[in-house]
Amino acid sequence: MAKKPPKQLALLDEDLCTGCEACVSVCPVDCIDTKPGHNHQAVMQTCSIDLVRCIGCTLCAQVCPWDCITMVPSDQMLRETKFAREFVEA
Ligand code: SF4
Ligand code: SF4
Repeated sequence: MAKKPPKQLALLDEDLCTGCEACVSVCPVDCIDTKPGHNHQAVMQTCSIDLVRCIGCTLCAQVCPWDCITMVPSDQMLRETKFAREFVEA
């Protein structure tokens, strides 16, 4: 059965992310992972959020020094097919 999403989910703008890992260390459910950077040479890694595991606590958005994480209402996020499929398959 599909998981019921929280009221809001964290949307990470990978184009702005510097890979500082501040968000990784505060996430209570460990749903933020690092991956090799691809945006420009100075950035060795970026982060991505597993939205299926995100509980919408907002901690990552509060600590990001570059404001690259935005809390978005889940229904708005799920209207985008890409994210809706993640929940259906969970
Ligand atoms: S909102 Fe909370 S649970 Fe979701 S990615 Fe950010 S820190 Fe993790
Ligand atoms: S805190 Fe912001 S800049 Fe740092 S890794 Fe997380 S999303 Fe990227």
